[in-house]
Amino acid sequence: LSKSKGRNRYEFFSYVIEEQAIEKRRIIEEIRIALKEDQFILYYQPIFDLDGINVTKAEALIRWLHPQQGLLGPNEFIPIAEQNGLIEQIGDWVRDRAIKDAAHWFRLTGKVTQVSVNCSPLQFDRAGLWVDNWILACNKIGLPRDTIIIEITENTLMDPDSPIQQQLHRLSDCGIDIAIDDFGVGYSSLAYLQRLDIDILKIDRSFIQHMETNENSIALIRAIITMARHLKVKVVAEGVETQGQHQLLQQLSCDYLQGFLFAKPMPSAQFTDLYVTPLALRAN
Ligand code: C2E
Ligand code: MG
Ligand code: MG
Ligand code: MG
Repeated sequence: LSKSKGRNRYEFFSYVIEEQAIEKRRIIEEIRIALKEDQFILYYQPIFDLDGINVTKAEALIRWLHPQQGLLGPNEFIPIAEQNGLIEQIGDWVRDRAIKDAAHWFRLTGKVTQVSVNCSPLQFDRAGLWVDNWILACNKIGLPRDTIIIEITENTLMDPDSPIQQQLHRLSDCGIDIAIDDFGVGYSSLAYLQRLDIDILKIDRSFIQHMETNENSIALIRAIITMARHLKVKVVAEGVETQGQHQLLQQLSCDYLQGFLFAKPMPSAQFTDLYVTPLALRAN
């Protein structure tokens, strides 16, 4: 009896695994179509000054307007795209779209609205073409390069074989800013902060989430801000959701705030209306 039960279980699991493989192949095929048919969209989430009012930056966050399933978030397709090279094509699309939007805002206001772009470690190639393409794309459209922030996670820096460290030097040499995303949760050493020209640390949402109830979270955030100040690195608090968190971050003199308390990610037209057009009006 137990033997047949075991086999049934095995058959059940292999059935589930087979189903998952089919589902994955379907998504991969659909991503190819999405690239061809322009189904991806960039949303922008404003990054606020400490007052929670002024906006000088926005994070670009990809969405997929799926013909059957509606609006999908990155967690539903970026991990799959990372497993098979499609992330490179998606990354190229994100770069060109973000640069176009940033250039549009720059022309509208004559002021730089920095656009912060998430990049997967798998986009970094050995030859450095990835960096070249960023520089070329900015030059082609006449966008000041300090308009762009590249966001990478700490884990990206931990692979000693990765060509990324050298390429980050080239990025910062040409004026593009570098931000460490989800700071504090990766397997990292702080050594890279000294070695690389990092401009921004984004404190992971999990620390912000617990800061009202957990003394340790506050202590860590305070330490990060103090360290960053000494290194002349700016700090963004990610995922600010409550007034209480905002007040504490003001007391700690954090530099920038991002989170649902202030604004959710939104289509670029809406970001333009709410945050860019007012800048243009003020300028004229
Ligand atoms: P991330 O870079 O850490 O982006 C922040 C995520 O937190 C976003 O989710 C944003 O919508 C969400 N968020 C912002 N404020 C709050 C808040 O107050 N509360 C809560 N609960 N969440 C908040 P999203 O857009 O689903 O993106 C998830 C992740 O997908 C991003 O995490 C990033 O790692 C990745 N991603 C997004 N766009 C791209 C892209 O263009 N390329 C690549 N390679 N990855 C991307
Ligand atoms: Mg990010
Ligand atoms: Mg720099
Ligand atoms: Mg993050």
